[in-house]
Amino acid sequence: MSWVNLLQPDLILGQSILGITPELLRDRNLKGLLLDVDETIVPVGKQQLDPDVQAWAQQLQRTVPLALVSNNVGYERIRLIAEGMAVPFVASAGKPSRRKLRKAAEAMDLPVEQIAMVGDRLFTDILAGNRLGLFTILVQPMLEPNSRDPKNLLRNAEFWISQQLGVTLSAIP
Ligand SMILES: [Mg+2]
Repeated sequence: MSWVNLLQPDLILGQSILGITPELLRDRNLKGLLLDVDETIVPVGKQQLDPDVQAWAQQLQRTVPLALVSNNVGYERIRLIAEGMAVPFVASAGKPSRRKLRKAAEAMDLPVEQIAMVGDRLFTDILAGNRLGLFTILVQPMLEPNSRDPKNLLRNAEFWISQQLGVTLSAIP
């Protein structure tokens, strides 16, 4: 598989995770969601989900299982977020490595193409998901206002490199 294929999200949402609806999942035959944590469901360093995100997760959980797969090494923070959502989690996942992501996917007991890996980063979330044959969804990052997180630069660099490789990153309506 080429780099373009490995980095190309199956769906570019063009909005935050809140844009993932039960209808969208049904239309694409998605039956489970693996969620990145930092800047996908919560800004970096925050432990408390926004009420919007909490409500979103509760709504989706009525139809599909959710699990968190984070590269963050702060085990306790990720555990508390997962506990608040009542979902399984993996910290220190090492994406784009497949090992821990595969375990989380296998725990859903679904065909890989019916599981979506959802995240804000191409070189971790999308690359890992595509390597496993998962459906991949790129979301707009959830940032604190005036965020100076150096990861923003990294994310932009990943987008630039990927576009040079031929990856399409404009939102698909
Ligand atoms: Mg992230």
